[in-house]
Amino acid sequence: MEKTCLIGCTPTQLVELMASLGQKPYRAKQLQEWVWKHRVTSFDAMTNLPPALREQLAAQCSLRPLEVVEVSESTVGTTRKFLSRMQDGHLVESVIIPAAVGQGGVHSSRITLCVSSQVGCAFGCKFCASGLLGLTRNLTTAEIVGQIVAAEEISGTRVDNLVFMGMGEPLANMDNLLPALTIIMDEHSLNIGARHITISTSGNVPGLKKLAAFGRPLRLAVSLHGACDEVRNQIMPVNKKWPLSELIPALQEWTRTSKHKITLEYILIQDVNAMLPEVDKLARIAHLLNAKVNLIPYNTVEGLPWVRPSEAACRFFCKSLIAKGIPVTMRYEKGHDINAACGQLRLRKVQIPPH
Ligand code: SAH
Ligand code: SF4
Repeated sequence: MEKTCLIGCTPTQLVELMASLGQKPYRAKQLQEWVWKHRVTSFDAMTNLPPALREQLAAQCSLRPLEVVEVSESTVGTTRKFLSRMQDGHLVESVIIPAAVGQGGVHSSRITLCVSSQVGCAFGCKFCASGLLGLTRNLTTAEIVGQIVAAEEISGTRVDNLVFMGMGEPLANMDNLLPALTIIMDEHSLNIGARHITISTSGNVPGLKKLAAFGRPLRLAVSLHGACDEVRNQIMPVNKKWPLSELIPALQEWTRTSKHKITLEYILIQDVNAMLPEVDKLARIAHLLNAKVNLIPYNTVEGLPWVRPSEAACRFFCKSLIAKGIPVTMRYEKGHDINAACGQLRLRKVQIPPH
């Protein structure tokens, strides 16, 4: 029988689990404290639970769903990636991004974590290392949550902000994403506020509707990358399934209930979407959605033909968009690091066998 990983259980599921063992709800509370407050990694450490119960739990449950197998070097204030091996040997990566240097040059201890939601991705965007691999499988709830627990163990600090911008399309894994979000937001579990969580989607319309129905004030980033169907069809097969004529109304619906602006992610790729006529189209969509735009100069992926435009060309595109009254950010270094999260480390290490 496969063991239930406790960091992938919602508070309600912990109560149900304890009830199935004939235990009262206060035992679930105690268990939750061991798992989340004390972050124990063994059942023996749960000293206020009777030994027989600890044994039962150890036989049926686990406490960590993944093992960190590689952490990139750390220098103060820099991004760190880590690679986790799931129990079946598959690998995913996550990226720890420190907050910007604060006033007076003091480094903040706050971190943003970029997590993966799937092993590979079925959406097959033509510029993306994850898309290149195809989908292997969804991450379980415990594996999504496990990346956050691992990041907190590695960094020795709490994750303040969470972005679903690693490998995979989070909205194609709703069954595991929603319970993961419940655990992540629960005040007695990870306690990260909905406003500090950004879900990034390439435009999965049914997923967006389900996420809206979930009813929490999460932040939304949309990987637009093309401001007309012609460009999007060329680089994002998902657009053939849910073209802009479906995506834009779904996003308008989202903005009706969300107080936060949507972020439109727009990778700049030479001769594909970085030409001046695209500025007008992008501005029109941003206006329509009252959204901000994040421009990301394309990160070269080995084996793919796409080219990052010159820095001058990126700056010109950015300036032209600003001139249209759109709030725009373009981050060279940090953006570069964040997007390197998208499957690129795994491509190199994908062959590690399970132990
Ligand atoms: N599947 C979701 C979540 C992954 S987010 C989504 O697509 O939104 C990862 C972000 O990195 C997306 O905006 C993606 O389009 C972008 N990305 C992928 N490959 C990239 C590359 N080579 N250079 C820059 N950004 C890239
Ligand atoms: Fe999947 Fe996002 Fe990469 Fe597209 S950009 S292939 S949706 S991970």
